[in-house]
Amino acid sequence: MSRPSNFPPPFSSADYVAEPTDPADERIEVGVLIVGAGPAGLACAIRLGQLLEEHPDVAERLGDVPVAVLEKGKQPGSHLLSGAVVDPRALRRLFGSSLRMEDLPTFGPVPAESVYVLTRRAALPIPPPPPMRNHGNWIFSLSQLGRFLGERAEAGGALILPETAAQKLLVSHGRVVGARTGDKGRNREGGELGNFEAGSDLVAKVTVLAEGTQGHLTGVALDRFGLRGEDPQVWELGVKEVWKVAKPLDRIIHTMGWPLRPGKRFREFGGSFIYPMGEDMVTIGLVVGLDYRDASLSVHDLLQELKTHPKIRRILAGGERAQWGAKTIPSGGFHALPARLHAPGLLLCGDGAGMVNIPRLKGVHYAIESGRLAAEAAFRALQRGETPATALSSYDDAVRDSFIWSDLYEVRNMRQVFGHGFFVGGALASAMTMSKGRVELGKLPAEPDADQPLFVTDRDASYPAPDGKLTFDKLSSVFASGNKTRDDQPNHIRIERRVPPEVARLWAHMCPAQVYEIGAEEGDGTVLVELAPSNCVQCGAITAKGGRLTPPEGGSGPEYTVT
Ligand SMILES: Cc1cc2nc3c(=O)[nH]c(=O)nc-3n(C[C@H](O)[C@H](O)[C@H](O)COP(=O)(O)OP(=O)(O)OC[C@H]3O[C@@H](n4cnc5c(N)ncnc54)[C@H](O)[C@@H]3O)c2cc1C
Ligand code: SF4
Repeated sequence: MSRPSNFPPPFSSADYVAEPTDPADERIEVGVLIVGAGPAGLACAIRLGQLLEEHPDVAERLGDVPVAVLEKGKQPGSHLLSGAVVDPRALRRLFGSSLRMEDLPTFGPVPAESVYVLTRRAALPIPPPPPMRNHGNWIFSLSQLGRFLGERAEAGGALILPETAAQKLLVSHGRVVGARTGDKGRNREGGELGNFEAGSDLVAKVTVLAEGTQGHLTGVALDRFGLRGEDPQVWELGVKEVWKVAKPLDRIIHTMGWPLRPGKRFREFGGSFIYPMGEDMVTIGLVVGLDYRDASLSVHDLLQELKTHPKIRRILAGGERAQWGAKTIPSGGFHALPARLHAPGLLLCGDGAGMVNIPRLKGVHYAIESGRLAAEAAFRALQRGETPATALSSYDDAVRDSFIWSDLYEVRNMRQVFGHGFFVGGALASAMTMSKGRVELGKLPAEPDADQPLFVTDRDASYPAPDGKLTFDKLSSVFASGNKTRDDQPNHIRIERRVPPEVARLWAHMCPAQVYEIGAEEGDGTVLVELAPSNCVQCGAITAKGGRLTPPEGGSGPEYTVT
C-alpha cells in the first residue's frame, strides 16, 4: 500500500535559511519582528506596545521601528479562519481594565449548547461531554477580531506590513537576525515582470514566529535549530461556511458521527460545529483528522453532505452562503510541542508551535496568551540589552507556568486515542477528561499523517451533487473565499509530480480548493499530478499529507472577512 511519505516533495528547509544579503545600509532595521498578524502575533505586538509606552527609554533604543508585523494576507484578518468560540481568559489578561469583552467585535457569550450524535437521518441529543462545554466562552469571527487587533497594535505603535510574506529565515553566526520577504511580480517561470519588486531583509533584535498552522519559517526553524518535539505534529483539516440565515440560531451545536465512518480501519476522527453569529448569520464547519486513510475522502464534500442532514438543512433553510474557507489545525497536542520554544534571537507562538486543545477545538486563547508571554520575554531581554543565546529562555519558563501548559498536559493523549476507532477512542477520551488528565494511558504512539497507508473506496460516489443553493462544488467555494491569487505567478506548492494513482487521488480529493488533478499515466505505474496553484487557499493540508506549501507572493490567497 502506498504512503504519501514515500514520495517526498522537492523541498529542503536549508534553502530557506540565509544570511542577510542586502547591503547593510539597505536593510530595514526593526526592534522586534513578528511574522504573522493572527491572534498570537497581534497580541505580541499589542503587549510590546503597552510595555514600550511604559518604558520610553527602551523604545528609544529600538530605533524608528520598534515593532513590525509581517502579514501575507491583504490585511490582518484576510487569512484568519476559526470557529470561533473563544475562551476569554487571554483577551482579558491582554487588555486588563482598558477593554471589556463587550468592546470587542463579538457576537456575545455562548447562549446555550447542544451536542448530537448523527446518523444519516436522525440526530440523537447527548449531554455535552466536558470538552464541549462552552459556558462562559464568547463567539467571534476570527477575521473580524484580527482586523480589530491589528488596529489596536497599530495604535500602540506597531508597523504592520500587509501583503508581505516572510520567505527566508535570516540567520547569522547561529542566531536568528530577522526574515527576508518574498519577491513580487515574477512570472510563472520566475522571470521579472514590469512591476517586479525584490524582497527585503528585515533585521531585528528578536524575531517572533506567529505564523499559525503549518508555519513556513516555523518549520524551517524547527529543523535548523533541532527543536522538533517528542512526537511528530499531526493535523486536522477544517472546512467552514458562513451563512446568512432567515431565522436566528439560539445555541451553539456540535455533532459527532455521520458523515464520518466509525470503523477503526477508516481512522475518521472529527466532528462539526454550528455557531450563531448574531441574529442573521450562522457558521457551519467540519473538522477531520488528516490521519485518515481513504484516498477518496474529501472534507469539502463531506461538509456538503452534512448540510443535507434534515436537522441541519432546517437551520440553513431560506438562507444563503456568504463565505467559505478552509484551514488545518495542529492536533498533536502536548507531546508534539517543540522541545524548546526559543532559539537564539527567536521565539515561537500559537498554532505554529502546536498550542491547540483539540478535544475542546480551542487555540485562539493559547495563541493570544503565548503572544503576550513572548512580548514580555522579548522585552525583558531587550530592556537588559541582552542578546546571548539563553536570553529568551524565560519565555519557555513562562509558557510552562501558564494555563497553556497545564491545559495541554491534561488532554495529552486525547488525539491519539481516536486511532482506536470512534467508540473506544471516545470512551478513553471521556475517561481522560473526567479525571482531568489523571488517567494514565502511558504515552501512546504517534505517526505522521503522511505515513498512513492509503486505500481507495467509492466514498466519493455518494457525495451530493452541487445544486448551487445548499451544496457547492470546490471551484464555487474557492470563489466564495474571495481568493484572488494571480494566475501567472510561480508555483508555490512543492510535490512529487509522478506518484502512484492512489496518492494522486488522495491529493485531488483532499484539497478543498481543487488544486490537484490526476493527469496522464506515465507507463511505469505512476500518474502525473497536474496543478492549478492559483486556486490554493493556503489551508496547509498538503504539508501534512506528503507535500509542502510555501508562501506565494504576498497578497495572494483568500480574502476572508467573516470567517
Ligand atoms: C475550522 C477551525 C475551527 C476552529 N475553531 C476554534 C474555536 O472555535 N475556538 C478556538 O479557540 N480556536 C479554534 N480554532 C483554532 C484557532 O483558529 C487557532 O488556534 C488560532 O487561529 C491560532 O492563532 P495563530 O495566531 O497562532 O495563527 P493564525 O490564526 O493562523 O494566524 C497566523 C497569521 O500569520 C500569517 N502568516 C503565516 N505565515 C506567514 C509568513 N511566512 N509571512 C507572513 N505572514 C504569515 C497568516 O496569514 C495568518 O494571518 C479553529 C481552527 C480551525 C481551522
Ligand atoms: S493546495 Fe492549498 S488549498 Fe489545496 S490542500 Fe494544499 S494548501 Fe490546501
